Amino acid sequence: MIKFLDLQKINEEYSKELREAFDRVFKSGWFISGTEVTNFETAFAAYCGSKYCIGVANGLDALILSLKALGIGKGDEVIVPSNTYIASWLAITYVGAMPIAVEPRIDTYNINPLLIEEKITPATKAIMPVNLYGQAAELDKIVCIAKKYSLFVVEDNAQAQGANCNGILTGNWGHINATSFYPGKNLGALGDAGAVTTNNEELADLVRTTGNYGSQKKYFNKIKGVNSRLDELQAAFLSVKLKRIEAETIKRQFVASLYNKLLKDVGDIILPVLAEGCTSVYHLYIIRTKKRDALQQHLTNAGISTVIHYPIPPHLQEAYSELNQSKGSYPIAEEIAETCISLPISPIITEAEISTIVNCIKSFF
Ligand SMILES: *Cc1c(COP(=O)(O)O)cnc(C)c1O
Repeated sequence: MIKFLDLQKINEEYSKELREAFDRVFKSGWFISGTEVTNFETAFAAYCGSKYCIGVANGLDALILSLKALGIGKGDEVIVPSNTYIASWLAITYVGAMPIAVEPRIDTYNINPLLIEEKITPATKAIMPVNLYGQAAELDKIVCIAKKYSLFVVEDNAQAQGANCNGILTGNWGHINATSFYPGKNLGALGDAGAVTTNNEELADLVRTTGNYGSQKKYFNKIKGVNSRLDELQAAFLSVKLKRIEAETIKRQFVASLYNKLLKDVGDIILPVLAEGCTSVYHLYIIRTKKRDALQQHLTNAGISTVIHYPIPPHLQEAYSELNQSKGSYPIAEEIAETCISLPISPIITEAEISTIVNCIKSFF
């Protein structure tokens, strides 16, 4: 049996330090808005190279609070990839704005910068690039377009902590950026958690205040906020895991390079491609084939779990039936959804497991 992602085994590597972190917070009796959160925020901001980091409850909240801080709402349009996890779209519709989908490049799966300008209207307020599957979007080009049209940029960096475009890390390109520490993400908490990163002090203050009931001083509320905070326990766990993220990224990149080498010219398999100047931290390792469903069944029969990221693009989800998008509206996103399959990748996967997976794929073709 090869699991898609063995979180038990991944977290076991950190067992001693995670238990120490738990004991420290448990003994302190202080669970919300304390030194653990402040320490993690400082460390994560430094890791991204951004000035401010604000811990929040999860990645979706990080996106929503980012859009709210920019004043985006009803009547506004936000450009977003047609190929993404639905959370990117949900944040936009949650604040009352309209998601305007732009197709990805069929080779990199990230938003195609060449198709953005034609979608800009007087109502466009922001571009939300998603660093999908761990690869930085072509953020340099996207920021250029945003500057030309005076638009905001909000990175959805839930999947690509540590990736870079032209040497500048993700989470640091937009006016404000959101990330997720969902347990399965590259930097995963032991529960829900997320963060906003920015170099703008005013936006940072606004996110922090909004996520804390709209209050800067207890029981004095400046604005109608929400409760969306990173808690002390999760922050303590994340501080433990942040120390090794770099080493884990290198391991993920090694696994990807091994897959790339071993799966080259096997059947009709299409391997992942990096855009010029962009790196990937391989949150996911995606291959594509016309025989996707049969290949997945073949791997399942051999005890190898795989996942489809994602089987239905947002525009075809029932949740967005009001948009009246039929099949064929975003053919590239649909093509990816129909042909992609994620192979197991993690910092603890062994070369023996990779060779089992590769041999199983070869036996299928
Ligand atoms: C995981 C994810 C989110 C949402 O993060 P949560 O912490 O699960 O709310 C948003 N966008 C993308 C691209 C994601 O992968």
